[in-house]
Amino acid sequence: MPRRPILRIAEVFASLQGEGLRQGEPTVFVRLAGCNLRCAWCDTKFARRGGGEVSLPDILAAVRFLRQAFPATWACLTGGEPLLQETRPLVRALRREGFRVQVETNGTRECPVGVDWLTVSPKPPRFAVQPGLVGKAREVKLVVSRELTLAAVRAVRRRFPVSTPLILQPHGMAAWSMKKAWRLLVEAGRRGWPNIRLMVQLHKVLKIK
Ligand code: SF4
Repeated sequence: MPRRPILRIAEVFASLQGEGLRQGEPTVFVRLAGCNLRCAWCDTKFARRGGGEVSLPDILAAVRFLRQAFPATWACLTGGEPLLQETRPLVRALRREGFRVQVETNGTRECPVGVDWLTVSPKPPRFAVQPGLVGKAREVKLVVSRELTLAAVRAVRRRFPVSTPLILQPHGMAAWSMKKAWRLLVEAGRRGWPNIRLMVQLHKVLKIK
């Protein structure tokens, strides 16, 4: 008998998308467990290891249950780093359920399946991005951490097509990070670097998950 696809899952929940250009849209999140990076300021440390092994049918059952009460047309695979696992069957199944699918990745793994929205969020110190992601990203997100420099903003901006928006995202609601994000935005603008904007995490403003 063929084995049913199993994924390591940290949580499945419904909320609005709080980050990036899809901000405000009702979304079901599937948070995959495991990450290959160790960002000091990570706000999902619980998802970096552990998680539970869940079969594809059980993930879909949870998603369907959430959708009964929450009018989401988008599903977002996040983490941890979702692309460390074999996500193709899940992406295809979610699409068959009628969802548009977003993947949020740290950029260190190629995305082997077509998705409707790919968010690439390169992380310090290397801000590494797999070549295959460059043309597929619908948005690029940089968390304004202590490590983020103007040179790193420039390097990431140059790595992606000008038409791909680059978002500076303050770290949570930290005042120092918001001020730094503003300074970086102004400096980038003075230098004529294109298509950079500042967006805060809406779910943190609203104090929801
Ligand atoms: S890449 Fe994301 S999940 Fe992984 S450690 Fe960094 S912030 Fe946390």
